[in-house]
Amino acid sequence: MVANLWNENDVAKILESAGTDTADRDLALEVYASRLIGSNPALVQHGGGNTSCKVVRRDLMGREIDVLHIKGSGWDLGNIEAPGMPGVRLAPLLELRQLDSLSDEDMVNAVRGALLNSSAPNPSVEVLLHAYLPQRFINHTHATAMLALADLPNAQEVVKQIFGDRVVCVPFFMPGFALAKAAAEVAEANPQAEGLLLLQHGHFAFADDARTAYDRIIEHTTLVEEWLQKKRGAAVLAPDPARPRAAPPAEATDILPILRGIIGDASEDLLAERCTPMPVMDLRAGPNVQEFLSRPDLHVLATRGVATPDHVIRTKNWPLLLTREAVKGGRDAIRDAVDAYIDRYETYFRKNAARFPEGKTMLNPAPTLAWIEGVGIVGMGLDAKAAAIAGDLAEQGIVAMAYGEDCGGFHPVGEELIFDMEYWSLEQAKLGKAKLPALAGRVVMVTGGAGAIGLATAHAFAARGADVFLVDRDAEALDRALGELGRKRHGGLAIDITEADAAQIATDACAARFGGLDILVSNAGAAWSGMMKDMDDALLRRSFELNFFAHQKFSQAATRIFEKQGRRGGQILFNVSKQAVNPGKGFGAYGLPKAATFFLLRQLALELGPMGVRVNGVNADRIRSGLLDDAFIKERARARGVSEATYMAGNLLGREVEARHVADAFVALALSERTTAHVMTVDGGNIEAALR
Ligand SMILES: [Zn+2]
Repeated sequence: MVANLWNENDVAKILESAGTDTADRDLALEVYASRLIGSNPALVQHGGGNTSCKVVRRDLMGREIDVLHIKGSGWDLGNIEAPGMPGVRLAPLLELRQLDSLSDEDMVNAVRGALLNSSAPNPSVEVLLHAYLPQRFINHTHATAMLALADLPNAQEVVKQIFGDRVVCVPFFMPGFALAKAAAEVAEANPQAEGLLLLQHGHFAFADDARTAYDRIIEHTTLVEEWLQKKRGAAVLAPDPARPRAAPPAEATDILPILRGIIGDASEDLLAERCTPMPVMDLRAGPNVQEFLSRPDLHVLATRGVATPDHVIRTKNWPLLLTREAVKGGRDAIRDAVDAYIDRYETYFRKNAARFPEGKTMLNPAPTLAWIEGVGIVGMGLDAKAAAIAGDLAEQGIVAMAYGEDCGGFHPVGEELIFDMEYWSLEQAKLGKAKLPALAGRVVMVTGGAGAIGLATAHAFAARGADVFLVDRDAEALDRALGELGRKRHGGLAIDITEADAAQIATDACAARFGGLDILVSNAGAAWSGMMKDMDDALLRRSFELNFFAHQKFSQAATRIFEKQGRRGGQILFNVSKQAVNPGKGFGAYGLPKAATFFLLRQLALELGPMGVRVNGVNADRIRSGLLDDAFIKERARARGVSEATYMAGNLLGREVEARHVADAFVALALSERTTAHVMTVDGGNIEAALR
C-alpha cells in the first residue's frame, strides 16, 4: 500500500504563507503535493516524474493569461520549491497542437519563448502533455507498480479489470509532441477518466483540485500494487530505504575492483579521445537483490530491457550479467563477459544508428549496471552520485521486472525505441560539453579523516569531484565529518588503524562502497613527547605502530586493490612531517617513525613505479590540529616567550600555516602526473627543515 501523506494542518500553514493570490495558493498546493510524491521512492526515482498546475495570472499590461506551472529540469520533486515550477503561457503551447509534427529542438525553443521568467529552468520535456490535458492539477510518475503494469502484454485488459473506465491507456510514443497529442486525444475521448496509463512508460492522474489529483496518484498506485500482489501470490521484496547498502558478501571486495579495472580499460581503449577514468560503483546486496538474483529465469530477464525508457540514460538497456561461473573464473572470465557485452552494444548501436542520416555519436559502450550472481547488483557511473542513481533505478527495475514477469510477462518497449531515447538529439547535443572536475570519479581514502588536516583534505578532494572514504578512530567525529561532507556521496569507517587487519578491513570497506580505490592519503598520526635518554620502550613502539606501521600496512592494502584493478595507476600520499628531517628537542618518539615513513615513501616509489603507482608526501609543520591543540600552542609559545600568534607565524613568510594549505598540497601532488618520490614542504618556510 502506498501511504497517503496529505496533511490538512500542513496545508493550512502552507496556504498561510502563500498569501492571498489564488494562483500563488494553487501553486503552493501543487508544490506540496509534488514533494509528497517525490519523496516516496516507490512513486518517483531520479527525474522519473513531473507535476503541474494551471492558474490564471495577470501580465505586465494587466491582462489575464492562462499559465501552466510545471516542474523544471534540474529540480528534484522531493524537495521542489515554487521557483522549480516555472510558469509558461498556455496559449502559445495550445496553438502548437495544430501542427502535424514538431521537432524536440523546436519544442524546447517554443516553450522557452513562452516562459514568464526568461531565466527560469527548462520545463519538463513532458510539458506539452500537461498543457493539452484539460484538468488543472496533473501528476505523472514512473511508480514501480505502474511500470510492472505498463509492461504487461495484456496491460489494457488489466487496467479495465482494475479501474473500469477510470483509467485509460495511451499507446507508446517517445516523450514529446507526438505523445502529448496522443494522450490528449485519449483523454478527450474519455472525459470521465481520472488518470492515464502510458503503456511501457508510466502513469498520469489528474483533477481540478490539488488534493484529489494527489489522492488519485496514491489510490491508483495502491490498487495496482494490490492487484500485482494478489496475482503473484506474494509481494516482491522492495529495497529497504533505511539500509540502502546491506553488508556486502565477501566476494564483492575482490570482484568489484577487478570489474572496475576491466571496464576502465575497455572505456579507455574504445574512447581514446574522450578517455574516462574507471567507473565508481554502488553495490546493492540486500535481501531483495539476493532473492531476485537467485531467480531461475535471471538470464532471460537480463535481456529484456529497462522498465521505462528514461532509465536507459543511466543503466543502458541491459545489465552486464556475471554468472557464478564468471565470478569463480576471475579476471579472464569477467573480461570475456565485458567484451561480449561491448560487442552486443556496438551491434545495437550500428544497427540503429543507420536509421539516422545525420549520424549519431556512440556513447561509451561499457556497461553501467551489473547483475552479479551471489554478490549483488552494481550501479556504475562517472562518480558516486551517478553510480547511486543507476543503483536506485536498477533496484526499482528488478521489482517491476519480478512483478511483471510473474503476473503475465515483463515486456518493455523494444530496442529501436530505446535507442531513440538513448540517442535522443537533445541528449546527443550535450555530449562532450560538460567539463568534468579534475578528479571526477577518483576514489580517495583518507586516514585520520575526521581530524583537522584529514577533513580539510577530504573537502579539497571532494571539491575537485572526487568521492571520499574517511577512516577515523573516533566514531562520533567521523559521523560529524560525513555529515559535513555529504553522506549520500561519501563514505567512511570508524576503526583504530593500529589494530591488526585494520588496513585490510578499511580498504575492503572502501572497495565494497565505491568498487575500488584510486588515491590513499595515509594521514593519521599522533605525537608523544619525551627525551630519548628517558624514553619508555613501550611508548616508542606505540608511536611506531601509528606513525610508521599503519602507513606501511595501509600502503600494502591499497596496493592490493591497485593490483586487482589491474591498470597502471594508483597513488599513495603520506603525511610525513618536518620532524622526519629536522628533529625537535623532545620529539624523538614522533620523529623516528616519521623518518622511517619518509624512507618508506621513497622505497615504495621505487618499487611501485613500474606499476604506475605514484608515491608522494607532505612535510607540514605547526598546523593547528589534534596533534597541536590550543593548550599545546599556549605552552610552546610561553616556552619561547612569544605570543601565540607570533609562535604560529614563526616561519619565513611570517604567516600561520593552516590545515587547508596542507590539503591543497596533497591535491597538487595528486594532480602532478609525472611526480613520484617527492615530498612537498608546507611550513611557511624553514631553512633548517628544507630538503636537500
Ligand atoms: Zn514520464
